Amino acid sequence: MSNQVPNIRIGHGYDLHRLAPLSGAGERGRPMVLGGIRFVSEVGPVGHSDGDALLHAVTDAILGALALPDIGQLFPDTDPKWAGANSETFLAEALKLAAGWKIVNLDATVILEKPKIGAKKEEVRKNLARILGVDQGQVNIKGKTHERVDAVGEGRAIEVHAVILLSRV
Ligand code: MG
Repeated sequence: MSNQVPNIRIGHGYDLHRLAPLSGAGERGRPMVLGGIRFVSEVGPVGHSDGDALLHAVTDAILGALALPDIGQLFPDTDPKWAGANSETFLAEALKLAAGWKIVNLDATVILEKPKIGAKKEEVRKNLARILGVDQGQVNIKGKTHERVDAVGEGRAIEVHAVILLSRV
């Protein structure tokens, strides 16, 4: 078997955030943001940064493809510097680390009971393509529910899976 480094790399990213009401007593969620786009929702992600699970999963997919430290290692949730941070910063940093590689395509699945992402899916896709510096045709986002079962299905969490393919520039 050759030890030659291949010209393509695949990466997988996964993220989950608890969802909580935006106001009231008890744990509070941050306003719902997905792929950098704001959604109208009574609940939002609990998180140290802005809690954008889609951008976190995509960031980890890029870092994973290149066998680099993950998002939690690069941007620890114990660092006050990242409190409320716009997650676009994390993705931009991962893209810098991926210098010498280009994105072939990204495919992501957002699993969320409410709100439905369908109406804003194209907007999210467009924004992700902008951040990644690729054409919209290279970015795909699918919305699913969790069929009302388990924490995600009961609306208590959001889950995102992302797969990315990179090739050498
Ligand atoms: Mg996260």
